[in-house]
Amino acid sequence: MAFESLSDKLQGTFKVLKNKGVLTEKDVDEAMRQVKLALLEADVNFKVVKEFVADVKEKCLGEEVMKSLTPAQQVIKIVNGELTDLMGGEGAKLEYDPAGFTVIMMAGLQGTGKTTTCGKLANFLKESGKKPMLCACDVYRPAAIDQLEVVGKAVNTPVYTDRKSKDPVKIAKAAKKEAELKGFNVLIVDTAGRLQIDEELMAELENIKDKVKPYQILLVVDALTGQDAVNAAKGFNERLAIDGIIMTKMDGDARGGAALSARKVTGKPILFMGTGEKYDALEAFHPDRMASRILGMGDMLSLIESAEKNYDEAKAEKQLERLKKNQFTLEDFLEQMGQVQEMGGLGKVLDMMPGMNKAQMKDVDVEKGEKEFDQMKSIIYSMTKAERQDPNILNASRRKRIAAGCGQPVSKVNNLIRKYEDAKKMMKQFSNPKAMKRNRMLRG
Ligand code: GDP
Repeated sequence: MAFESLSDKLQGTFKVLKNKGVLTEKDVDEAMRQVKLALLEADVNFKVVKEFVADVKEKCLGEEVMKSLTPAQQVIKIVNGELTDLMGGEGAKLEYDPAGFTVIMMAGLQGTGKTTTCGKLANFLKESGKKPMLCACDVYRPAAIDQLEVVGKAVNTPVYTDRKSKDPVKIAKAAKKEAELKGFNVLIVDTAGRLQIDEELMAELENIKDKVKPYQILLVVDALTGQDAVNAAKGFNERLAIDGIIMTKMDGDARGGAALSARKVTGKPILFMGTGEKYDALEAFHPDRMASRILGMGDMLSLIESAEKNYDEAKAEKQLERLKKNQFTLEDFLEQMGQVQEMGGLGKVLDMMPGMNKAQMKDVDVEKGEKEFDQMKSIIYSMTKAERQDPNILNASRRKRIAAGCGQPVSKVNNLIRKYEDAKKMMKQFSNPKAMKRNRMLRG
């Protein structure tokens, strides 16, 4: 998971601070030493770390922090702000050509995930209401053209190819013409990759840039390669003046050094991150949300967005209505569980929850949790409609019958009913702003 070990270490450091009522300069010094070590271990660029820690320290030693009633919280707030700035502050978005047709040139070394990302981007664009077309410009490897065709099919996007031509400029220009003619409005150009940056590749990409004039040049780099990814980004940017970076394989990158250094070293924003092998595993990169996630402050906004994407709003509203009228049934509960699964499963939801720090996460066995979900579903399926709608009628003999029906012990049935009652209570809290506020204050 992205930033897992860095997140653990920083949260550990801040826990020590939180336990102290008053902070001395020595405490701040020690905390900054820990932050520095954590960032270096996360493979963040050395120069970036040095600057970062110096900035944070200067701010922390300011009078407002040291004399504040909650100095540790102030320090965390400062680190949060600086981490956000380090990754690009406000965040940047993919830009579209105001003339109406956007050419996006994708560049990157072999194996970084460039071709897969072309598909993910096509998928993303379609979801944003665009009409993308893909174009295969790796003229050296016929397998690369085949791969892009497979990707195109998977995301239901046409792919322009010309297997006879060895001229990527000619291919891209022809693709653009065809795409415009057929009413598409974005062309994603997949270019050749190499194992390392070499002059021939750069010259070819420069030539495509000059002649095809892409509106955006996006560089795909692999987060798992750490500082090599950052160096590649620097090299590509110096020759091509890229517009943005797509950082792939963030799902497997526990360290996060590349994501934390890329912006500062190259001056170019990370626009997206790849979070899995599937074509929907591409997320817009939001520095502020990333920073909060690293510090265990959760990522409620991403969670809400994911919920919005997968939630049936009308259904959710109906559930809330029923809850208010005290009519939240086991059927609603079942539906809710299904929704969590659609949002990427329990693991992903927990990861984005505020207050769920990594140490707590370790105690949660996600696989077990998902299995439990399935068991709970089978229990509810074994109930009659009347029982699902009014769990109050579930007396001992009914519970026994249900247990026999789904092949599980009665204790599991009882457990499910308890969980349903808990969910009801929790939802009531969420729908009651006063209770939410009280809870937040209690948690500090
Ligand atoms: P290319 O040589 O740069 O075109 O790379 P490919 O698109 O062929 O991808 C190389 C490998 O990385 C494939 O196995 C992809 O499934 C995998 N991959 C790409 N993006 C991601 C990602 O965000 N997360 C994970 N886990 N794997 C990825």
